[in-house]
Amino acid sequence: MQLMDQHNVPSTPQNFMIWYAYASDSNPDLKHTLDDLVSDSAAVSQEDSAEIFDRYFSQFSQGTDIQKTGSQMSGLVSDVMSLVSQATDDAEVFGAALEDSVGSLTDLSDPSAVGQVVKLLAENTKKMLSQNRQLQGKLETSSQEIQSLKTHLEDVQKEALTDGLTDIANRKHFDMVLQSESEAAVARGAPLALVLIDIDHFKNFNDTHGHQTGDHVLKFVGAMLKKAVKASDLPARYGGEEFALILPNTDLAAAVALAESIRVAVGGKHLRKKQTGDDIGNITLSLGVSQYRSGEALSDLIKRADDGLYQAKGLGRNRVVAETELSAVAD
Ligand code: GH3
Ligand code: MG
Ligand code: MG
Repeated sequence: MQLMDQHNVPSTPQNFMIWYAYASDSNPDLKHTLDDLVSDSAAVSQEDSAEIFDRYFSQFSQGTDIQKTGSQMSGLVSDVMSLVSQATDDAEVFGAALEDSVGSLTDLSDPSAVGQVVKLLAENTKKMLSQNRQLQGKLETSSQEIQSLKTHLEDVQKEALTDGLTDIANRKHFDMVLQSESEAAVARGAPLALVLIDIDHFKNFNDTHGHQTGDHVLKFVGAMLKKAVKASDLPARYGGEEFALILPNTDLAAAVALAESIRVAVGGKHLRKKQTGDDIGNITLSLGVSQYRSGEALSDLIKRADDGLYQAKGLGRNRVVAETELSAVAD
């Protein structure tokens, strides 16, 4: 709370969560980000706080959003239910009125009795029509509201599968797609390849250029991966500074070629610091590649790519190692 005071941070529940995480040292990335921010200026703006909350506590903002949308949805459903039950009641009343009218028509030859019944029928029908129109209007409003909630839920769902920083698939999305693509590969008898990617000496990079510049580099790598793959492939942020590619209909040799071209493209870019425009050199990637073996556990597929990555690091980084190149010592 002292820190919040010191940096002019208003006492909101979100800010308490941020600064509690900071003070308790439970999230080193968040701590780095805040340290960078307060070294630039003493005060933390509301904008920065909102961005930090979104990044590190997105599960909470999504949670409340989903809860809110869910309760709006169930409110609408009960509105529609009561409209439908109102309509059923109205129809019953109308039916009873018809029965009454017809029942009282004992003598068809009496013109005044027929006139009376027709008048009654006309009145009841008019009432029923007006009720129907009202009901239709209310149902139309509800259906528009349901449509807009549905769109909103789809957006929230997409957000839940996207990494907030790099805007590519997150780990959860990666897990889902790897599962479904492995099943599709078995069904089609087609190959499926996996590439795991890790930025070299990224801790050093952060320490030298600051965490915020590090974040920009993560965005850059995400964008490069997106640009390098086909629409049917999935680039994902696998962990902090680790990325992955799921490559359907791709065998090991083709995946290695793609991995190599990505390694060359990323390593060949000169990076500039956003705030100052200073040339800060380049970053390099180490990559491991594996190909799915029909029926194997996905953890085995991931392990072979990870072993390749580990071996690439051991061999001096900035290289691609395929599962076929794994030395026997890796276990
Ligand atoms: P190596 O070549 O062996 O991979 O070395 P490394 O320094 O890249 O690996 P290490 O695992 O020691 O460090 C990973 C670093 O990545 C440490 C952490 O601060 C940084 N990192 C992880 N997530 C983020 C993030 O979201 N933003 C920034 N800026 N840095 C991150
Ligand atoms: Mg790593
Ligand atoms: Mg690394």
